[in-house]
Amino acid sequence: MDFSQIDLSGKTAIVTGGSKGIGYCMALGLAKLGADVAIVSRNLQEGKAAAADIEALGRRAIAISCDVTSKASVEAMVQETAQSLGKVDILINNAGMNIRKPMMELEENDFDAVINTNLKGVFLVGQAVGRQMIAQGHGGKIVNVASIMGGVAIPMLNSYCASKGGVIQMTKVWALEWADHHINVNAIAPAYIRTPMTEGWLNDKERLNWILSMTPMKRLGEPQEVAGPVAFLVSDWAAYITGATLYIDGGWTSR
Ligand code: NAP
Repeated sequence: MDFSQIDLSGKTAIVTGGSKGIGYCMALGLAKLGADVAIVSRNLQEGKAAAADIEALGRRAIAISCDVTSKASVEAMVQETAQSLGKVDILINNAGMNIRKPMMELEENDFDAVINTNLKGVFLVGQAVGRQMIAQGHGGKIVNVASIMGGVAIPMLNSYCASKGGVIQMTKVWALEWADHHINVNAIAPAYIRTPMTEGWLNDKERLNWILSMTPMKRLGEPQEVAGPVAFLVSDWAAYITGATLYIDGGWTSR
C-alpha cells in the first residue's frame, strides 16, 4: 500500500444530499482525491451547481434528482449513475432532515417524514447500491451518515434520535452480510456542524452555549472535519474496518 496519500482516481462515488452542507463538502473532498461523483438531491439546480464545482476540479460529475424515500426513484438513480459514470465504488449515504418538537407535539406526519428520509431512505439507497456493487463483483465502500444522536438522547429530537440509532444498527448488519463481497460498511456520527440544516438552531445563543458546554473541544465541527475522516474510511487505508461507527464530535461522547 502506498502511504503517501489517499488516491481515489478511477473510483466512482454517489453522495446523497451532496448538493449542500456536509454532503457537498464530502463530495468535493472525494473529487479532490480523484473520484468521479454523482450528486443526489431532490433540487436539481442545487445538485447541478455542486456537480459543476466538481467538474471544475477536472473530474466527471453528474447531478441526479432523486427522492431517497422512493424506491423507484432510488433504483433509477443508481442505474443512471452506473450508466453515466460506468460503475459505483463508493456510497456516501448522507441525505437527511430533522424536525424539532417536544414529544407531545410531534405529529404522525413529522415522525414519518424524519424516519422515511433518515432511516428508510438510507435503507433503500444502501440496498440498491449494495446490489449494484455485488453485481459488479469488485467490492466497495459504504459510509452511512448517522449522528451522535444515534446514541445520545436530546430532548425534542425523538424521531431524529430514533432514525440515527437505526442507521448505526443497519450499518452493522450490512457489514456482516456483505463482508464476503468485500464491501466495507461503516458509519460516521458527527456532533453539531454548521450547515443549512443546523444554521437556525445554532444562531440561538443560548443553545449554542449549551452545545459548546457539552463539547470538550469547546467549538463546533467544520464540514471539512467530516470530509477528512470519510475520505479515510473509503480508502484502502481503512480496508480492515467494517461495521464501525466513527464519532466526529470534539469529544462529546467521551463524557
Ligand atoms: P443539509 O445542509 O440540510 O443538507 C441535506 C441534504 O440532503 C441536501 O442536499 C438535501 O437536498 C438532501 N435531502 C434531504 N432530503 C432528501 C430526500 N428525501 N431525497 C434526496 N435528498 C434529500 O444537511 P446537513 O447538515 O449537511 O446534514 C447531512 C447529513 O448529516 C444528514 O444525514 C444529517 O442528519 C447528518 N448530520 C448533520 C449534523 C449537523 O450538525 N449538520 C450532525 C450530525 C449528522 P434536497 O433538499 O434538494 O433534497
